[in-house]
Formats: sequence, structure tokens, C-alpha cells
Amino acid sequence: MTEIELKEFLEEIKSFIFDNEERFTLMSAAYEEKSSIKIKDYIQDKEDMKNKAEAKAPLNNSKYNMLKFLNDTKVNDCKKCRLSATRKQIVFGEGNPESKLLFIGEAPGAEEDNTGRPFVGRAGQLLTKIIESINLKREDVYIANIIKCRPPDNRNPMEDEISLCSPFLEEQISIIKPEIICTLGKFATEFIIGNDKGTISSVRGKEFDYKGIAVIPTYHPSYLLRNPEAKRETWEDMKKIRAIYFKN
Ligand code: URA
Repeated sequence: MTEIELKEFLEEIKSFIFDNEERFTLMSAAYEEKSSIKIKDYIQDKEDMKNKAEAKAPLNNSKYNMLKFLNDTKVNDCKKCRLSATRKQIVFGEGNPESKLLFIGEAPGAEEDNTGRPFVGRAGQLLTKIIESINLKREDVYIANIIKCRPPDNRNPMEDEISLCSPFLEEQISIIKPEIICTLGKFATEFIIGNDKGTISSVRGKEFDYKGIAVIPTYHPSYLLRNPEAKRETWEDMKKIRAIYFKN
């Protein structure tokens, strides 16, 4: 086929598409006049159904893909609770999905809401230093929160928000299968070990069990910013975590 023939052929295809698009628009308008079905809505519904059917579990079941699948299909765009109305972004969690060590915080603050990343504000910078104090890098561990959306004015999470959002964290834990969980502060600790074990200052540094995973609670970095004298105790807790992490 010469170049000219090819160009003519392409022109023919273009005009075919144009003609048919026009015919389709006219037919749709005529049809809509006679029926209650809105063609565009109908097509959108069909596409949504097709997309849902195509959203199958990932073929490559790496932890990364499974977390991505959880985020794409369940967490992303969640509107289960009131926080969806005031959040800027959902903060799913980040880090190494293959990590032995998972840190669990409470809920995103302003910086996290702006960036979509956990622990990036002042408390987050301190958490990064705490991680580095046991010779790990932030990228070596996984960091998540119980609540994925920022509570307005950084208020405490409410009970119903925790019960609606925490199944996402539970799924993250069952995908990552860490060897150690470090809970940061009262809310994460009570969620993981139960609220009948004592205050955060009495349980910190002790070892608990969550579905076969070692749990070491410590103070929340925001508390440490307000009470720097408690950093010494967190350092003791981190040494216990380091001992378990580097055991094997
Ligand atoms: N505090 C938390 O508990 N989580 C964050 O992601 C940031 C601050």
C-alpha cells in the first residue's frame, strides 16, 4: 500500500467513525425521548459492572500486590464513616510489606492528611529517629494507623470510627504477617491487646501476643514531644524490639 493509499484509507476510517458516532448520538436522543432510560447512564452502569468483574485478586500474590488490591478495592474512596466528609486524603500506610516489624499509630494528622503518608509531621520525624535508633531505616519497616482518615482538629477517634476502620488494619496485618508489632500510644495498644491490660505507662515495654505476633507497646511520639523525659523509656522498649528483630 502506498503512502497516499494509506492516508485515504485512514481518512475513510475516520469518516466512518464520525458518521457512526453522529448516528449513535441521534439514535440515543430519539430513544431517550421514547423511554425513561438515559443512554449515557446505561453505558456507565455497564462499564462499572465490567470494571468490578475485572477487579479480581492479583495474579502475582506478592504482599505488595495484595496491599495494593486492598487499597484499590476497599480502602480507597471509603465512605463508611463521617471522617470521609472532612478528610483530604486517605492515609493507607507505607513501608516495606515484607518487613518483620510493623508500627501502628492512631490516626493521620494535618500533614498526613495533606500528603496521604503516615507519620510525616513532627511526631513522624520523631518516629523516624526512633526507628533509626535501632539501626533500621524507615523504609525497612511498615507504618500504618488504626484510623485511615484525619479526625477533625486531631480529636481522638470515636468508637464507631475505630470499629468501621480497623478491619482494614486487620487485613493489612494478615497480609504483612510481621513478627513484631510496636503499638504507639493508648488507642493502637488497646485495639491490639485489649483495653483490660492497664494504662499505656503500665503496659509499655512488656510483650503481648496478637494472633501469634509479638506485640511491644510504647508511648506515642506525640506524647514524647510533650514529655521528652519519657523518651528514655521508649528507648528501653526499642531495645526489646531490636532484640526480637535481630534474634534470627
Ligand atoms: N499520629 C498518628 O498516630 N499517625 C500518624 O500517621 C501521624 C500522627
